Amino acid sequence: MDSVTIAEIDAEHVWHPYGGFPSTTGPRVVRECEGVTITLADGTELVDGMSSWWAAVHGYRHPRLDAALAEQAGKMSHVMFGGLTHQPAAQLAAKLVAMTPEPLRKVFFADSGSVSVEVAVKMAVQYWRSLGRPDKRTLLTWRGGYHGDTFAPMSVCDPEGGMHAMWRGVIADQVFVPAPPDAREGGAVDQAYLAMLDAELEARRDHLAAVIVEPVVQGAGGMRFHSPELIAGLRRLCDRHDVLLICDEIATGFGRTGTLFAVDAAEVSPDIMCLGKALTGGYLTLAATLTTDRIAEVISRGEAGGLAHGPTFMANPLACAVACTSLDVLADSAWRSRVPEIGRRLADGLAPLRRVSGVVDVRTLGAIAVVELDGPVDMVAATDAAVAAGLWVRPFRNLIYAMPPFIIDDRQLDVVVAGMSAAAHASLATATRELAS
Ligand SMILES: *Cc1c(COP(=O)(O)O)cnc(C)c1O
Repeated sequence: MDSVTIAEIDAEHVWHPYGGFPSTTGPRVVRECEGVTITLADGTELVDGMSSWWAAVHGYRHPRLDAALAEQAGKMSHVMFGGLTHQPAAQLAAKLVAMTPEPLRKVFFADSGSVSVEVAVKMAVQYWRSLGRPDKRTLLTWRGGYHGDTFAPMSVCDPEGGMHAMWRGVIADQVFVPAPPDAREGGAVDQAYLAMLDAELEARRDHLAAVIVEPVVQGAGGMRFHSPELIAGLRRLCDRHDVLLICDEIATGFGRTGTLFAVDAAEVSPDIMCLGKALTGGYLTLAATLTTDRIAEVISRGEAGGLAHGPTFMANPLACAVACTSLDVLADSAWRSRVPEIGRRLADGLAPLRRVSGVVDVRTLGAIAVVELDGPVDMVAATDAAVAAGLWVRPFRNLIYAMPPFIIDDRQLDVVVAGMSAAAHASLATATRELAS
């Protein structure tokens, strides 16, 4: 099929993320990907600055991941998980339990990040119900978060970004506290913030099932960073007020922030943890919800006799097999030194943008770089400028950001810097033109 036909069928029939018809920006047709390179149908080669939304940490067509997939396909691509089990699932569960904080020992495999958050919420609510405390069924979160697009996750996404006004009466009413202070604001601000949280948890402890947050990095809700000390403080407060702590590490997990998991920087363990995105190295959709023996035991003693969830494609063997290999590739790689190097090179390269009028912030953490503008990004101008510079990025709201595959080399990182800078300048030029006219 030629690329014109693909684009025509796409425009006529295919939804894209947050899309409508006709789409405002026709998607580009991809022919193939390898390493950190996305090749478009017309032969244009782009450095992937997005890791396909935090997922493809080892790049595309990784020989070991390709081989793992082919080998598993030769045995079984899928088999139901009710009443049956298999090596890829068992092996992956053992690996996840070994690499996550100690008390997390029970693994529920879900088919996407959003579903793993649904499962986390269900675990928390079922836990309290099983303990004879059915009133503890509300969630508390801080503003600026993102937890997925199905209804339970939507209820704890940032109310403005999640368009809660539109969903009133449809999504559950949860408790929102102000967004966490920025990492650089420091100690005193954090203490005041934790005091506020303490009061909120104290006042609502009879109704709260859990606090749910993205530790250290708020991703799609605004690409903001807060201090690990806040997570440590939150852990103490949850214990004090008998509320579970759910950490959504779907974006932050597997080295992205510089530690294996973001909670590792705070040296705490959540009661429930969600993993996804980079779990399969970006090959297949798979997520996992981990919890403690204690929570699993209480749920199992309850009226449902178990956890009320069971996706058709639960623990898909292809996805589990490639995930096992992806975790091995990560363990065998130099990610611990490379992730901070990536961050430093991006920080150095993007630093001059701080002096550009219209740029309000440039920040990096781990292998994440963010350029924040003073107004909405002109998506078409910014994307075209980045592509012309050889980079694929997908800005949103007022943010141009990158989290490249860990295998990216220095020359390719310079393309990321050049592309993000070009995108920022192009977007700001539109804003200036609009002001002038
Ligand atoms: C992407 C993301 C999700 C949702 O995962 P999907 O696989 O897209 O359903 C949930 N939480 C966080 C923090 C995410 O970044």
